Amino acid sequence: MKTANKIPVLNPATEEVISEIPNQGPQEVDRAVTLSQRAFEKWRWTPAHEKAELLHEVSRRIKEKTQDLAKLLTEEGGKPFRENVDEMGWSASCFDYYAELQRNKRGRVIPSVEPSQLSLILKEPYGVVATIVPWNYPILLMSWKVAPALAAGNAVIIKPAEQTPLSTLQFREIFDCFPSGVVQILTGEGETTGEALVRHPGVSLVAFTGSLEVGKHIAKICAEQVKKVHLELGGKDAFVVCEDSDLDVAAKAVAWASFLNTGQVCTSAERIYVAEPIAKEFIGKIVSFTKSLKVGSGMDPETDIGPMIGEPYRKKVEAHVQEAVKRGAKILAGGRKPPHLSKGFFYEPTVLTGVDHDMTVMKDETFGPVCPIKPFKKFEEAIRWTNDSIYGLGVNLYTRDTGKVKQFYEKVEAGTVWINDPLTDNDAGPFGGYKATGGSRELGEEGLEEFQQTKHVHWDFEQKVKPWWYPYGRKETTVPKKTKKS
Ligand code: NAP
Ligand code: MG
Repeated sequence: MKTANKIPVLNPATEEVISEIPNQGPQEVDRAVTLSQRAFEKWRWTPAHEKAELLHEVSRRIKEKTQDLAKLLTEEGGKPFRENVDEMGWSASCFDYYAELQRNKRGRVIPSVEPSQLSLILKEPYGVVATIVPWNYPILLMSWKVAPALAAGNAVIIKPAEQTPLSTLQFREIFDCFPSGVVQILTGEGETTGEALVRHPGVSLVAFTGSLEVGKHIAKICAEQVKKVHLELGGKDAFVVCEDSDLDVAAKAVAWASFLNTGQVCTSAERIYVAEPIAKEFIGKIVSFTKSLKVGSGMDPETDIGPMIGEPYRKKVEAHVQEAVKRGAKILAGGRKPPHLSKGFFYEPTVLTGVDHDMTVMKDETFGPVCPIKPFKKFEEAIRWTNDSIYGLGVNLYTRDTGKVKQFYEKVEAGTVWINDPLTDNDAGPFGGYKATGGSRELGEEGLEEFQQTKHVHWDFEQKVKPWWYPYGRKETTVPKKTKKS
């Protein structure tokens, strides 16, 4: 049971309590920030090659512990083991990427602005960075912030989600290669530990991934303190399938993009628009493929789809599906808790048709294994529907028509456009969203810049009076030279 000081951690596949964590409050946060501020003063001046060595060491340790970390993550988060093995690989790769990038992204020089002048552009750290992450990709999303923040010379305090703190806590050992205080991990509720971090005046930057609602709340607190905030919020990604596509491939692509991690991915495909002439055939293929997917424990190697993270999240999915059905939608697959699983927060992968944009399932983030499909007549219509969302995270397109590809990527309001390869990230490719998704970027050079502030040093080697100084419009009165006494 949850108390003021302790939070239980559940296995979402069995509903059993597997551990408990402390709910750390303002005093612990204050102690951590003070230690972090001290560590920052040294860490920021650590030579780039030493920073690189330590960041590579983190990657090496993640690879070494992948199996144990992935197992723990499946136990607390529910995601299939093989997906968590992948998550460890991507996380390790992110530390390697920023280990190298920081070596030559420390600023630039503009020589000879005028013959006696130069400009130095310095990229400096902010100080103490608070990193607040959700439970769906706890290690990856933490890495996307911590690796660039450290590479930029900041000290970092991490607050994992209360549902998935155990795998993150294993990083106390992984991060012990850094000097004391450079990276710390605090556990607890968002409203307690998270908010104390956000409000602490010693924290200079808050890097947050999570819901729109909490993101807005954090942004308001940061605005009061004029504190830098980095936001990666929700999404309602569209997936457009054109009639020239290979339908067997496109059906599998849509299923994966909709059901990966039980639909609990910020870039899950949550609205599918398919060209009318192929709609019937496409829907037939995706329905039979969806029915063949195996729902169960993430530790079973045959499981495709694990449990959801908790009952409130499952209830929200149920509510979206039921409201759609009341308004005329049809369930062609799933739409219920799997009857063979009495325990755990499971929900069958679900295909809906007869959906429209006045239904919640086509507007709000569902964050569950639901694939609502709507046929389109004209490609322009599919683009208009794609942009009909408050969010602008990712979008997907299946076509071999290069004209359509160009039209699509130029017109869509989204931070990532995937063409014929859904949901593939790349360390060097910036990730983030337009509109209510928050506007920040992770990965790539942009992901490092988020944790750097820019200082311009304008340097003249000579001291001389400039013609644009005072006095204006008058001859300068020169001090009369002393004349010899006559
Ligand atoms: P959430 O409720 O917003 O929680 C995210 C994190 O914020 C958790 O660590 C949470 O702590 C903490 N938190 C909650 N209230 C807080 C407060 N008042 N002050 C400081 N921290 C606070 O999000 P969620 O529902 O768990 O996660 C799913 C959401 O994340 C979805 O909307 C999804 O789209 C979004 N997401 C976005 C991206 C992206 O890159 N754009 C990636 C993944 C997920 P506790 O949970 O421990 O209380
Ligand atoms: Mg939460």
